[in-house]
Amino acid sequence: MTLLEIDLKKLESNYHSLREHLDPHTKMIGVVKANAYGSISGLIAQKLVELGIEALAVAYADEGIQLRQSGVTAPILIFYPQIARFKDIIHHNLEPVLYSKRSWVKFAEQTQAEQKSAYPIHVKYNTGLNRIGFDPNETDWVLGQLKNSPFQIKSVYTHLGQTESPKPDAATDRQIELFNPIMHKHNAAPEQMPEYHLLNTSGVFNYPELHMDWVRVGIGLYGFANHPRWNQSLQPIAQLKTNITQIHYIKMGETVGYNCGWKAPENTRIAVLPIGHADGFSRQYGHGKGWVLINDQKAPVVGNVCMDMVMVEIGDIPCSEGTEVVIIGAGIRADELAENAGTISYELLSSLGNRIPRIVKE
Ligand SMILES: *Cc1c(COP(=O)(O)O)cnc(C)c1O
Repeated sequence: MTLLEIDLKKLESNYHSLREHLDPHTKMIGVVKANAYGSISGLIAQKLVELGIEALAVAYADEGIQLRQSGVTAPILIFYPQIARFKDIIHHNLEPVLYSKRSWVKFAEQTQAEQKSAYPIHVKYNTGLNRIGFDPNETDWVLGQLKNSPFQIKSVYTHLGQTESPKPDAATDRQIELFNPIMHKHNAAPEQMPEYHLLNTSGVFNYPELHMDWVRVGIGLYGFANHPRWNQSLQPIAQLKTNITQIHYIKMGETVGYNCGWKAPENTRIAVLPIGHADGFSRQYGHGKGWVLINDQKAPVVGNVCMDMVMVEIGDIPCSEGTEVVIIGAGIRADELAENAGTISYELLSSLGNRIPRIVKE
């Protein structure tokens, strides 16, 4: 059967490796959105808190509520809070990121309705990614609102679009140029002094001078840094393994899978594996774009990936029904497999479905 094994020792080692890159005063927000990048968010969050992480972040309110219900009491940022969930955010003591006048006004109303004061919030500015965030021109509006607000502004940040590019990078420089005056204005305002942050995992490695008060690390905790050089200090925490369900002898000219996706060029053997696109093993890995390791040898995917199963060509690789198969693990990195099929480790990991049982190695 298919299993995702999560190694907490490796998480711990990645956490310490990332810390070593930071000044002692820089704090870490551990990003555990999307089920901790496809692993187990409650467990990963607990472990990170135990290791000393200062805060956690998820994308949406429900993810934060789930962490609270699993007993996590650390500060939890909600990166992309939706107005319909503001009440739940307050009820679960979660810290929203406010990103527009509308989100600000609605959250202020909700906070007052709940009779809260000095409620912790974070403010995000859009400096060029053009995803969410206040326009830099709205800084004065934000500062004006702060005067009598029910909020305590804990941090102010922006998100860089190109931290994977090494310096110098014109787009990053432009974003920093826009962010500097925002920080200056916030610092000059007498009301509240926030802390500041810019960087995700790649940024921690590529922009050591921009670490500031906090960094927001996700993929690095799970063992990837988007560059071979930086990958060396990290270890992928997840291994995806399965076993061969059935083996078929295929004659030259026979086809395999839906739409006769593959035609055998010679007599060969194929193995059928119990994972499919419903589990996050995407159709993108079909037609040889993806492969697995069986007894340390590469077996390419043949034809189309089905919803629940996939077929790989095993030729004369020594194996039989029941033999263990490595889909992601030693000798087969999630980032390489993903790249070969035109995607990235983030998508491969975060789409691993919840039909796959997670097991924990401590
Ligand atoms: C997901 C996310 C991160 C984490 O990025 P990694 O590349 O995984 O380290 C940081 N900041 C924001 C705003 C995010 O949405």
